[in-house]
Amino acid sequence: MSVDASSRIEAVYADVLRRNPGEAEFHQAVREVLHSLEPVLRKRPEYAEPKLVERLVEPERQLLFRVPWTDDAGEVHVNRGFRVEFSSALGPYKGGLRFVPQLSLGTVKFLAFEQIFKNALTGLGIGAGKGGADFDPKGRSDAEVMRFCQSFMTELHRHLGEHTDVPAGDIGVGSREIGYLFGQYKRLTNRYEAGALTGKGTGWGGSQARTEATGYGTVHFVREMLATRGEDLAGHRVVLSGSGNVSLFAVEKAQALGAQVVACSDSSGYVVDEAGLDLDLLKEIKLERRGRLDTYPEARPGARFSTRGSVYDVQCDIALPCATQNELHEEHAVRLVKNGVKVVAEGANMPCTPEAVDVLREAGVRYGPGKAANAGGVATSALEMRQNAARESWTFAETESRLAAVMRDIHTECVNAAEEFGSPEDYVLGANAAGFGRVAEAMRAQGV
Ligand code: GLU
Repeated sequence: MSVDASSRIEAVYADVLRRNPGEAEFHQAVREVLHSLEPVLRKRPEYAEPKLVERLVEPERQLLFRVPWTDDAGEVHVNRGFRVEFSSALGPYKGGLRFVPQLSLGTVKFLAFEQIFKNALTGLGIGAGKGGADFDPKGRSDAEVMRFCQSFMTELHRHLGEHTDVPAGDIGVGSREIGYLFGQYKRLTNRYEAGALTGKGTGWGGSQARTEATGYGTVHFVREMLATRGEDLAGHRVVLSGSGNVSLFAVEKAQALGAQVVACSDSSGYVVDEAGLDLDLLKEIKLERRGRLDTYPEARPGARFSTRGSVYDVQCDIALPCATQNELHEEHAVRLVKNGVKVVAEGANMPCTPEAVDVLREAGVRYGPGKAANAGGVATSALEMRQNAARESWTFAETESRLAAVMRDIHTECVNAAEEFGSPEDYVLGANAAGFGRVAEAMRAQGV
């Protein structure tokens, strides 16, 4: 590298700020990665060329499109659809779709950028993308959601394909939405191209364990983090934020491994159950009834629901933020540290603010960033693509054991890369450096 690593990185970051004004989450995600790349580029200056870091922070393609649809009363609505195809260095663009009311291009860009490193870490040959719409499925009928998904896919389909771009779910997009999206893709293309979308139903091309994969994978990752010090999950107190797919299946796996899971949250508040969360009840409330946690104590009198403070006020050894980005703030981290937390691992994408991460690190808390800890979801999507390509359907046990192996390998890679670049146990450095290494090799080989 001709100029020194840090001034080169500063220049790249200045360009990112200039080119993407107002996109604070994207800036935050890029800043964290660029910081990790300093020691990497110092040791491996060849990775900086030809203009590799500059190319890495600019998406290959960004799609913005109109999504008009009609509600049940006959009124027409117009939403905005997004797909950021960030990197195809390692495979087809891969990443979820998010339907939330405030979705912006900056949020999609940050998520797609994170996906570059996450997907690279899986070692399963997937590039990076993310998309969604500023649509709120809450309170909408099935027919409205269907019409919305059909309109969304009417535009997006031309950009997709099993070798091109493969979306899946994310917040607000579950198996119902994937079904409607896939149906429309099939209608428009006249192809049963199962590998063009993941998270499908298991009866029509979906993979076993895909629904559980992100939550399970996060707990597998925590198990590896604990194992480095000869510990396991048994008897540890666990607290999670969120109560969607990620959170609920993290509860399931943590309980199966003997942890005492005592609290989780939703947008209305949080529930504390010292006897251990009743998972069947949670699934009934959140997945079947699509209800709120405040009804939980009706069936479990020993439990309490609260809207005061946050779920991170509850004493725990392990905290798993599984809700959304920038939800765990500095004061939450301070409280967790005060209460003796040992491990924080992210089931969501970038749920800890940079200030919170600093607090955790200074206190010596082991911190697993989302791009490593929650990679189990996209890894299992890649396993779904493999099954589709081979026209196979693996058992739950086989799929889960492959998922566990992927999470173990990701953990090992993070640890090795962190050591190689000078900060053992720094999982942020480890994840960014290991993911970047794979992408950099491919980008160099494939030319400008
Ligand atoms: N939305 C998930 C993630 O954040 C999964 C993406 C996928 O399966 O493609 O990684």
